[in-house]
Amino acid sequence: MSLAVGLCGWAALLLPWAVPSWAPTAAPDTGFPALVLFSVVIVAARGFAFRPVPERVLALDTAFFVAAALCLGSLPAGRMVAIALTVDSLLRILLLARSGRLAAVSWVDEVGYAIYFGGMTGALLMACARVGGADDLVLASATPGAIAVRVVIIGVALLVTHYAVQGARAVLFGRSLRSYLRELAAPGMLSEASLLPLGAVMVLLYQPEHMLGFVLLGGTYVLFSFVYSRLARTGADLHRRVGELEILNSTARRLAASLELEELVETAARETTRAIPEAEALTLVHRAAAGDDRLVVDCFDRDRDEFSRLVVGRGEGAAGWVMTHQTALTIPDLANSEIDLGPAGTEGVRAWLGVPIFMYGGCEGVLAIQSRSPGVFQADHRRLLEAISLQVASALQNARLYEMAMVDGLTGLFVRRYFDARIEDEIERAKRFGTPFSVVMMDIDDFKHLNDTHGHLIGDRVLRAVAQIVKTQMRGVDTASRYGGEEIALVLPRTEMVAALNQAERIRAAIAEHRVATDAGAVIGVTASFGIAAYPESGATTAEDLVRRADRALYRAKKTGKNRVELYWDDASTGKMPVIAVVEGGRR
Ligand code: GH3
Ligand code: MG
Ligand code: MG
Repeated sequence: MSLAVGLCGWAALLLPWAVPSWAPTAAPDTGFPALVLFSVVIVAARGFAFRPVPERVLALDTAFFVAAALCLGSLPAGRMVAIALTVDSLLRILLLARSGRLAAVSWVDEVGYAIYFGGMTGALLMACARVGGADDLVLASATPGAIAVRVVIIGVALLVTHYAVQGARAVLFGRSLRSYLRELAAPGMLSEASLLPLGAVMVLLYQPEHMLGFVLLGGTYVLFSFVYSRLARTGADLHRRVGELEILNSTARRLAASLELEELVETAARETTRAIPEAEALTLVHRAAAGDDRLVVDCFDRDRDEFSRLVVGRGEGAAGWVMTHQTALTIPDLANSEIDLGPAGTEGVRAWLGVPIFMYGGCEGVLAIQSRSPGVFQADHRRLLEAISLQVASALQNARLYEMAMVDGLTGLFVRRYFDARIEDEIERAKRFGTPFSVVMMDIDDFKHLNDTHGHLIGDRVLRAVAQIVKTQMRGVDTASRYGGEEIALVLPRTEMVAALNQAERIRAAIAEHRVATDAGAVIGVTASFGIAAYPESGATTAEDLVRRADRALYRAKKTGKNRVELYWDDASTGKMPVIAVVEGGRR
């Protein structure tokens, strides 16, 4: 479609060759030096073109085109402009292609656009200049006022028609008319119109025999374009910096709220890939735990929205390089790089950028982004990623401290304080959203006896094994805490009494089946008893109440033979609060 418009433009420009009667009646003198001079100024002004929005290039050359039409005649000026603009667009495409930023598929589109833009602008200039009477004006005898009026008429006609055609094209390509008018047409037309008086002065100074004044003015014109482009570039830089600061601000806020490692990894991955759209995947390399030499590699694939994790012995490949050299590394194209990605490498990755994560006075990890398109990561991305990595570092430190404060060293379960906080959260949530939840209290049977028989070290081993079984039997949303010596408390969100019973029964059976070897060669087993209280089924109104009721159910399980699960509920009809035994494990 655009190409058709462009080709029509080119046809209109070339037609006078085939049909001489189409040529302007009084073509002014079009001396070769003048043509060359005009072309040089056009190409120089285009050189300072800038991008007010990423997809458009804006050059302030309309006033100059109009001047060319009045000095050289509508047809030569139209042809010259068409050729200059097409050559300029093709040069831009070549530059883009050389920097590797032009995808192969868009080649045809870009060349098509170059032909369209040159042909359309040239033909419009010719048409506006002809209708505006550029060819009828004899410059030597025209008054300055008449020249200024022509410049303004032709200039305004050219601006309006040019932006109208571009607008129609933008709307056809799905852009909203409002945003086109506000972001491109209005500022573009205003800044171009402000240069029309300069175009008029240029025509007044134009004398084919004495070109000095015209040359000086052409230089001034190019200078204007340069100043405009610098201003626009500075504005764009400022805009980008403000955008980066906003991103960092929101990233910092979200990361600060993530105290648990899993959540932190997810937040860091999502925020970073949102901040850097070129990042198709991300890896976060960090130590498994303070003092642990192994490294955890968390990977996030943005397109598939998938997380994966692997544990490696030492930093290898590009991430290992960053950790050893403690500095950022950009690999524009892995296909031509001596460094590979090591075990964390993904198929098809071409560009890679990794920055170190500094904690505790050293490099403790790497934050890296990757893309399937080569050469996409620039210095700006590196700066932004380094700023994000500073925040990830402090969030990781917080997560470590939190883990140390909230996770029990022997069992790896949460501590009692965490359980207290979780249960309060759940009551709050249950009250607000009406979702039920359950608390399970469990206690290992005859543990004192086990300690006395096999020693405390074996007791610890058994306790760890029981904790591990509990962890593997739980869903991701459940939490298990070490409530006391060998008592474990579970919070099961969105779980009614019967579902909690099933889950506790599964854990009970798994513990009863498990065997632990002692150093003396004996193989021992343990059992545990469980008490369940559900909210709101148990009738408890506070966290304390709920725990007390689960404890009473547990007490009952102990009383009625151990290795069993008991439920608690409030029997309002009797006025008493009986504890009902439901599952019998039976003593082995
Ligand atoms: P019951 O079946 O009635 O629960 O009998 P029990 O012997 O398990 O009684 P109780 O639950 O009161 O016993 C708690 C014992 O657990 C006391 C202590 O020897 C042991 N214990 C508590 N914490 C630890 C620990 O961290 N390591 C070891 N090895 N033993 C512990
Ligand atoms: Mg016990
Ligand atoms: Mg106990």
